[in-house]
Amino acid sequence: MSAEAHVQARSVLDSAREQLDRAATLINLPPGIHERFREPKRVLTVGIPTTMDDGSIRTFTGYRSQHNMDRGPAKGGIRYHPQVTIEEVIALSMWMTWKCALVDIPYGGGKGGVVCDPGTMSDRELENLTRRFVSELIGMIGPERDIPAPDVNTNERVMAWLMDTYSMQKGYPQPAVVTGKPVALGGSTERGPATGRGCVFTIREIMRRLDMAPDQSRFVVQGFGNAGRAAAHLLAELGPTLIAVSDSSGAIFNERGVDVQAILAHKAETGSVVGFPGADEISQEDIFGIDCEILIPAALEDAIHEDNAGEIKARIIAEAANGPTTPAAEEILNEGGVMVLPDILANAGGVAMSYFEWAQDVQKLIWTGDQINERLERVMVRAVNEVYEMHQRLDCSMRDAAMAVAVGRVAEAAQWRGITP
Ligand code: NAD
Repeated sequence: MSAEAHVQARSVLDSAREQLDRAATLINLPPGIHERFREPKRVLTVGIPTTMDDGSIRTFTGYRSQHNMDRGPAKGGIRYHPQVTIEEVIALSMWMTWKCALVDIPYGGGKGGVVCDPGTMSDRELENLTRRFVSELIGMIGPERDIPAPDVNTNERVMAWLMDTYSMQKGYPQPAVVTGKPVALGGSTERGPATGRGCVFTIREIMRRLDMAPDQSRFVVQGFGNAGRAAAHLLAELGPTLIAVSDSSGAIFNERGVDVQAILAHKAETGSVVGFPGADEISQEDIFGIDCEILIPAALEDAIHEDNAGEIKARIIAEAANGPTTPAAEEILNEGGVMVLPDILANAGGVAMSYFEWAQDVQKLIWTGDQINERLERVMVRAVNEVYEMHQRLDCSMRDAAMAVAVGRVAEAAQWRGITP
């Protein structure tokens, strides 16, 4: 791990703990429970020997963290990225605990990651890596224990390998061991856009409260992957105009508006937003200073930090990504009157939809896309209402309010269960 990656990873876990500490103060969390929530329940580190296409064997490092299981089995994605660290995986699993509690679905928090660069690996190598990783996790995961899902650089293809490897070892099909699988394997038709959809429900509800006119609002999306693309497409349908978007290759900007369908098609064809006709190229960093009403960070952690927070002109930041705003940046934003809709609320649509997928698999039920999207809307609107009420009652930021609701809910479960022995 490079020094830079280490510093960054430490800061992500520090950020997660700092957010918990603030919530603990707000709700008078008993010290014993607070201390327990600062640490994960269980973390596994595994070496993953993988046969490469040239016949050589490389050993990758993988992690799975289960932060808390007081309210149900652990739930959370698996990420493939060269900068994955154990601290990052723990922080992400902690956020999953709060997120599941906030939208009140019966899960705890988990997260996994493998240190690898999938862009340089063939499908066969990724399959070998995934199947071996799942074999190492076999005693830890399961429909009643810990249910993985896609995250950065993993997708339904990877989830299908996971489901198959687990099922082969159990001796019978176990679709409920994972969510975000292909529809043909019991996946949800609505899982793909669910994170973006939940993010847009959150933005819609807050715009109503802040009296913001959708058709006079402009928005910017940082990161144009699964979450960012769906959020862009669905938010534009409500009226706001997309004016800038970035991905790992670069960024584009047009103050008169970027046609969402056209940029989606360009990205699908070329693999990047760069080179999109009818827009100017800008740097990835410039995207944060653009004059707009809504900013959606949908890439990786720590994108908004103390050096760029002061440039942000948006009225609302909706965190589609996990942990995109550092605590120092958030202080600057709060002082400047920018409302940050925290990740555990703004991107909870993905895990809420995963819960519906899992519930269908466990009960062998089939619901229509409309049915589950209506349920998703109800779950998200209720959560936004609860957070907004807490924000007004405690006169605190939306993040502190969301954390207060979520941590309070997990603490109540923990107190009912008590400690064994
Ligand atoms: P993804 O891999 O599909 O997309 C990530 C995007 O970010 C890509 O377009 C990539 O090019 C871009 N990117 C990377 N570095 C960048 C940079 N420096 N500047 C601009 N863009 C950059 O991943 P995803 O599934 O969309 O996840 C994105 C974020 O959303 C992560 O933080 C993830 O944890 C979070 N999230 C995703 C889901 C989901 O359902 N996919 C659910 C909850 C949270």
